[in-house]
Amino acid sequence: MSVGRIMPMGRLKAKELSPAERVKGFIPYVEDYTLDQAVYEASRCLWCHDPPCVTKCPAGIMIPEFLFALASRDLRTAAKILRESNVFAGVCGYVCPVEKLCESACVRKDLDEPVAISMLQRFIYLYEKENGFIAFEKAPATGKKVAVIGAGPAGLAAAYELAKRGHDVTVFDYMEEPGGLLLYGILPYKYDWSVPLTEIEYVRGYGVKIVTGRKIDSLDVLFKEGYQAVFIASGLTKPRKLNVPGEDLEGVFYALDFLAHVAKALRGTGSLPDFKGKRVAVIGGGDTAVDSALTALRLGAERVYIIYRRSLEEMPAVPAGRKQAREEGIEFILLAAPTRIIGENGKVKAIECIRMKLGAPDASGRRRPEPIPGSEFTLDVDVVLVAIGQVPDEEFLSKLGVAIEKGLIKVDEKMQTSREGVFAGGDVVNGGDTVVRAVSDGLKAAQAIDEYLKGR
Ligand code: SF4
Repeated sequence: MSVGRIMPMGRLKAKELSPAERVKGFIPYVEDYTLDQAVYEASRCLWCHDPPCVTKCPAGIMIPEFLFALASRDLRTAAKILRESNVFAGVCGYVCPVEKLCESACVRKDLDEPVAISMLQRFIYLYEKENGFIAFEKAPATGKKVAVIGAGPAGLAAAYELAKRGHDVTVFDYMEEPGGLLLYGILPYKYDWSVPLTEIEYVRGYGVKIVTGRKIDSLDVLFKEGYQAVFIASGLTKPRKLNVPGEDLEGVFYALDFLAHVAKALRGTGSLPDFKGKRVAVIGGGDTAVDSALTALRLGAERVYIIYRRSLEEMPAVPAGRKQAREEGIEFILLAAPTRIIGENGKVKAIECIRMKLGAPDASGRRRPEPIPGSEFTLDVDVVLVAIGQVPDEEFLSKLGVAIEKGLIKVDEKMQTSREGVFAGGDVVNGGDTVVRAVSDGLKAAQAIDEYLKGR
């Protein structure tokens, strides 16, 4: 097959809407590649013998093979390679932090720039959507019933794999719609919601039943209902609190609740918060903080600040999100932490912060922020969005009868909990990671559950 005979140079930059256009609403701002553009970009791959991009991909996608098929215009094979490793290949094409994963390791960066792997993954998703999704063979029914708690990426990935292996799978979620973070935490300026929705339908296509609006808080009930194994993928549903005075004032919101509220309103339930003309302080330095800031801007906020206690170098948010935030006019206040939220008539009026300096590295390897005495300053704001992380629902976990370690479900190398037949994975085990890691956890757990059921 003759591909890449003329070595293309230079990564193909996708067209983007201007920052002024982007902030007008919740619309994706990066244009997808055309076929010729995708073929050009895929041809930039060097087809490394021992590809570091694959090692860095939590889903273990055979990236060089995928790129070779695409460069050869064999789109069906490219789609099959992606789908074989990642049931949410489309979603991950849009939301994977590739600058930290596959693209960060791409050898091509030593020549010019890494291959735009995620853009090519998107292209193939769109091809599949247009031409029909890859259908894998389903094993004959085993007669075994499996319950999955949580219809986020880990739960749905596990359900898909188990259904493909012939098991009768039901996924339970307390929200109105399945998808978890894919729907309620990722707003449609990152991707059109048809991306997660079509992939959830794809999972359903293998016979997975999804029950929404039902909160499971007893595994005994599920075992009584005839399920022989359970996979817990309930995620992190409670916010980490700031623990500063004034946190209970009107105008203080927790990031995931805020994003879920906006997502629901955009999907027709409830109304959008009115941020017109408001000054918003977002506390935190992760991707959720950046997403909250970008969302506040799209809701009409006049000024949006991101307040982070370390410097830009330690900021966990991906560079692309930070760049987008800067382009759209979000102001970064670095090396500062809130000390109290000041109110007037029960509502947020200002936030008081203190300057920080960086000391010796802490357990995370990042330099520990230390307050500089007497450096307090005040910022007038109307809204405070707290985005310093999430934790599992402790009350829910305490009812499951499984061992907990450091607030998370403890599992062995097979993702089995301390309770027989009960497995767990995703954020409720790892404390919060990427969508692709959740998917990979789900697939791994499905394999272990399958072995467990066969051994019974
Ligand atoms: Fe291609 Fe980059 Fe992976 Fe090498 S590291 S196989 S160049 S995508």
